[in-house]
Parts: sequence; C-alpha cells; structure tokens
Amino acid sequence: MTRGHCLCGAIRFETEASPQAASVCHCSQCRRQSGHLWASATVSKATLTISGPIKWFDSSKTAQRGFCPTCGTFLFWHAHAEDTISFSLGALENPTGITLEKHIFCDDKGDYYEITDALPQKA
Ligand SMILES: [Zn+2]
Ligand SMILES: [Zn+2]
Repeated sequence: MTRGHCLCGAIRFETEASPQAASVCHCSQCRRQSGHLWASATVSKATLTISGPIKWFDSSKTAQRGFCPTCGTFLFWHAHAEDTISFSLGALENPTGITLEKHIFCDDKGDYYEITDALPQKA
C-alpha cells in the first residue's frame, strides 16, 4: 500500500497499485507550483483513493493539478485524456518502496541549477 497526505493532513490518498514512472519534472509549471522540482509517480486513476477537500486547478486545456486548499500542498497532476494520475512522492509516508527512474521536461529546466545525478534525462 502506498499512502500520502498533504502538510496539514486534510487531504489523504492511497493506492494498492504499484506506482510507475517515478520521475522528477523540470517543467516551468511544476517548478512554479512546487518551488523547485516535482517528483511524482503514476497509477491508474481508478486505483487511487483521495479523501478530503481537494481543489483542482486547470493548469492548461489538457491537464489539471490538485492541491490542498488549506495548506497549499501540491499533490496531483491529471491529464483529461488519460486514465492515470500522478501524485507527489514528497507527500508519501516512508517506506515508499519507490526509486526515481528519470528526469523529464529537462529542456524546460531552470538556469539556476544543474542535474548532477546519472538518471536518464528526457527532453
Ligand atoms: Zn493540507
Ligand atoms: Zn512538470
């Protein structure tokens, strides 16, 4: 079981599915919303149970981002055309059993840091 919650605890989520594609996203939206990078993993939307007053923000025509309206924790990303949902690795309870696999949206990364690990970097 994978479990997580926001900073204040109002939003909780869990899944029995095995999280896939653990990634660090360097896109400007994730950096802006999280303060730096956003680490997430993905499961089928039907397998993720979310409780609490989650607020969804339409960050584009194709995707929305879920956050806690009380403490502001950014927790979820969902593309309308996909039946999957991504959740914040930073919100998980240990042990997660998850290991980062790759960096994504590296072409959109900020100029104030370098990627210094050996994980694959996707454009
Ligand atoms: Zn909260
Ligand atoms: Zn991103």
